[in-house]
Amino acid sequence: MNNKEILIKNGISPSFQRLQVYSYLRKNNVHPTAFKIYNDLKKQIPTLSKTTVYNVLKLLAGKNLIREVKIEDNELRFDAVLQEHGHFKCSECGKVTDVFYDKEFVDFIEKRNKITDIQFNIIGICENCLNNKN
Ligand SMILES: [Zn+2]
Ligand SMILES: [Zn+2]
Repeated sequence: MNNKEILIKNGISPSFQRLQVYSYLRKNNVHPTAFKIYNDLKKQIPTLSKTTVYNVLKLLAGKNLIREVKIEDNELRFDAVLQEHGHFKCSECGKVTDVFYDKEFVDFIEKRNKITDIQFNIIGICENCLNNKN
């Protein structure tokens, strides 16, 4: 299924701008903020507005096609990887990468509780930055 078909299947009319935002997230697994998405896309779509980007992100998140990722209080990032996973954020370069954990870990918690959201974040210094220091 291509991105357009996924939007249609989820009841979203695939306008050009919606498709561009969704495709951007599917293509770039960098956990961008809304501002980064806007900045990158407006090079190709000069008519794009920040409000449109925010609205499309809200729409996609509402349909569970993307996930909101909150690592630090002041920034909301977006992720098109829907499989349960956590994130590692490098405090030096700011890069956010996926961390996959055992599903048993979630199953164990879900036995007694109802999980409505998972935010599993690790902050540290990435391999790249560590190597560049020495
Ligand atoms: Zn780093
Ligand atoms: Zn992720």
